[in-house]
Amino acid sequence: MHPLLATLMQTVLLTLPALALGGAGVMLQWPAMVTLVVVGVAAYAPPAIAYVRSGRQRADMARRADELLQALIDALPDPVHIKQRGGAYVMVNEAFAQYHGISREAVLAAGLGDGLCGRANHALSMAEDEQVLAGAEVVKEEHTTRQHTGEEVFRIISKRRCLDMAGQPVVVGIDHHVTPWRLAERELKQALEREQVMRARTEQFVQDLIDLLPDAIHIKAADSRLLMVNAAAARIRQKSKQELIGLNGRDLAPHPAVGELSISEDQRVLAGEEILKEECGTAPVSGEEYHRIVLKRRCINVDGKPVVVSIQHYVTEWRLAERELRRLAQEDALTGIANRRCFSTEAERAMHAAERLGHPVSLLLLDVDHFKAINDNHGHNVGDEVLVELARRLCEVLRKSDLPGRWGGEEFIALLHGDTVAALGVAERLRQAVADTPFTTSRGPLTVTVSGGCASRRAGEQLSALVGRADKALYAAKHQGRNRMLDATSAADSGPAPL
Ligand code: GH3
Ligand code: MG
Ligand code: MG
Repeated sequence: MHPLLATLMQTVLLTLPALALGGAGVMLQWPAMVTLVVVGVAAYAPPAIAYVRSGRQRADMARRADELLQALIDALPDPVHIKQRGGAYVMVNEAFAQYHGISREAVLAAGLGDGLCGRANHALSMAEDEQVLAGAEVVKEEHTTRQHTGEEVFRIISKRRCLDMAGQPVVVGIDHHVTPWRLAERELKQALEREQVMRARTEQFVQDLIDLLPDAIHIKAADSRLLMVNAAAARIRQKSKQELIGLNGRDLAPHPAVGELSISEDQRVLAGEEILKEECGTAPVSGEEYHRIVLKRRCINVDGKPVVVSIQHYVTEWRLAERELRRLAQEDALTGIANRRCFSTEAERAMHAAERLGHPVSLLLLDVDHFKAINDNHGHNVGDEVLVELARRLCEVLRKSDLPGRWGGEEFIALLHGDTVAALGVAERLRQAVADTPFTTSRGPLTVTVSGGCASRRAGEQLSALVGRADKALYAAKHQGRNRMLDATSAADSGPAPL
């Protein structure tokens, strides 16, 4: 076999892995090329052996070998060239001529070796050829501009040394063009970069938007890890957004049970459920009481993956204000015990509950004796101080289950568990607790007495009727000289009308 032909085949075969870089499209063409070369050589070899006889035959064979070689390299789609030492081309294929935009004959004309590329590139190519002729092998990719068209070109260049017909070393080079694949690759890379930029911009926009909102927003992945939080969430947890990203429900929860609940809720939300609830608790960092409305909903993020979006709307101020309003509406501002309206509501409820259970309840109505005189002699403020202290002593005497209230002015009321006897016992203890220990006021100690009337509730009796009977007893106590407690039955027996 012709050594040049063999080298060309080897070069083609060695180039195959590099050509694979160019893409699958080329891989489909190469087996056909290699088959062509192999079939050509197989056809050529037997006659070559038979005809090595005479000079004419040898010249004939050399010409036919040249023709075959030319035909074979012309069949290759990639430019192929064979160069002598010094740079002169001895053989190029059609693809080579076409690529350089000149005829094959022009390429082969003497001195054109440096005319196909720039002077600097020519010098480089010559140096490279010298290395190849010395035995080195070159396989490299080049990104250049086609000289006569200005077109951008990517080539995998393969160069090997072999001997020509005269036994002289020559350089065989094949330029495999991979421009369409490289341009497609670049296009794809640019598209990916554009997509990444768009994605980063979208994420930044979402971040900026949620940072504007006063509610705490958490966006969690399917494994409950935080993907994004807003400024409000970071502020509430007193951590930076970066510190929070990647943490899950367990890491964030103040107690393990809360963490488990949060994660199980996330799973329900991912399955399509929406969660809307109100929570209250103590902030882990500040220790302050909080109230919030929590909304959890499944969304699809920019990657197309399902995420849990949780919005925590804090309503602490409103809930505390509501509580304060409720307290103000129910409490007597001066003494802090239930006001008349609250007492009435609570007493009605307690009376019905006691009736259901068959338990007796009684009512005690109290009035400060000569309170007007306290006001007149010591001032209204001292009067107030007496009322506050009286409420305190009343609560002290009552049991936890009893219900005290301020009925109005210097009148107090209490719903007591037990019958009249028990109620009178409580009333008497209170009377003593008031009368026996002077009240400490801003104007010094003051002796105060109270009078009271008790009534035990009859079956089905309304609060107003019960209060009416206790009131009668109270007035009887006043009539009998004050600083005493009477029950409704004995008061009715004592007969006189109230003062
Ligand atoms: P009696 O022994 O008969 O009950 O005589 P009294 O002076 O206590 O009777 P009266 O009901 O006439 O007086 C009640 C007074 O209580 C009249 C009112 O000015 C005063 N008073 C009502 N509410 C308050 C209050 O919140 N603070 C003060 N300091 N005085 C009040
Ligand atoms: Mg009164
Ligand atoms: Mg009074």
